[in-house]
Amino acid sequence: MATMIRPGLVDELQAYGAEDVSKCFNCGNCSAVCVHSEAPHVLPRRPMHALQLGLESKLRGSLEPWLCYYCGECSEQCPKGAEPGETMMSLRRWLTSTYDFSGISRLFYRSWRWELFSIVALAILTGIGFALFGMSQGSINHYDGPSAFLPSAMIHRFDWTMAVVLVVLLGINSIRMWRSVTRAADVKPSIGSYVAALYTLPVHFFTQPKFRQCDRKRPWLVHLVLMLSYVTMLVLIMFFLREMAAGPAIDWRVHVFGYLASAGLIVAVVLNLRGRIKRDSPQHAHSHESDWMFLVLLLTVAVTGVLQHILHRLGLDAAANIIYIVHLMGVVPMLVLEVPFGKWAHLAYRPLAVYFARVQEHANEAVARGGATEPAS
Ligand code: SF4
Ligand code: SF4
Repeated sequence: MATMIRPGLVDELQAYGAEDVSKCFNCGNCSAVCVHSEAPHVLPRRPMHALQLGLESKLRGSLEPWLCYYCGECSEQCPKGAEPGETMMSLRRWLTSTYDFSGISRLFYRSWRWELFSIVALAILTGIGFALFGMSQGSINHYDGPSAFLPSAMIHRFDWTMAVVLVVLLGINSIRMWRSVTRAADVKPSIGSYVAALYTLPVHFFTQPKFRQCDRKRPWLVHLVLMLSYVTMLVLIMFFLREMAAGPAIDWRVHVFGYLASAGLIVAVVLNLRGRIKRDSPQHAHSHESDWMFLVLLLTVAVTGVLQHILHRLGLDAAANIIYIVHLMGVVPMLVLEVPFGKWAHLAYRPLAVYFARVQEHANEAVARGGATEPAS
């Protein structure tokens, strides 16, 4: 593959949050302290160097930024204050925008005004849409039953439609990521390599074991709680929405999981927000606007979800329906805009990167054994 060089890439990365990369003089201290830096993935020094040289095609196919969990050790050890940890973060934002076929990620990461405007506009449209629908067929005073303002069966169909849209959007961008990675790779893995590495996908999606290897364990734990809470809530909404919405009696078989997931989401988001406000750790020292957007949306959705549940249990169905609409005004932009195009996309790209890294490792092992893989064309 021809190497594409773009000298202005360093300047472009600053729009994604990179610090002054030119300060780096390639001493390698950062890679020496990074627990994830291991040949062939030398991070953060190698992507820092590629960025200085403007090696765009190499960076587009690089897995290294995704193998960084932003513990901040490298930034603390950098003698030049080049902030390699934050540069890895900005490279992840930039990579997300290169994978995205629609250009929305690029727009959002480079302009918080556009991101905010899009979220607010979609939230308002969602609110108006659900309010009109509710008034056309139900009563604001009924949360469930035949004359429910927002019947759970309808919301269920809506959720599944959004899920399909989300999977299609993330699927297209994931294929684009795979193409960038395979173009830049030294070997062309066989189908067998892809199959053999498949186990890494669920493991790294749910538990991020590499994150746990970082010296600071608390960020991993907070992320784990956030992730498990989020997945639990997703399962409840996609498969048990009718039971979740029924009431006013509490159905402990499903609601207990809802309470745990809500508590996990709120605690994890509050800890993250507190860290960013206090700048109490290296990974919270720099906050891009997209970091705030992600956390505020998630907190809004979690708190309004809890509130509508409480109001319905108290028999205040009209208030519960109003808060339900506010809740959906947060859910729709979060799932349609933030998950595929914003910071949340890393939930897909990071496990995929670990998977592709393992696939390449497997392919290289096969080449070393004289196996069935082919050199990349
Ligand atoms: S980022 Fe800092 S520690 Fe890493 S190679 Fe450059 S100057 Fe050295
Ligand atoms: S922030 Fe941590 S994980 Fe990321 S490159 Fe630096 S030392 Fe490695």
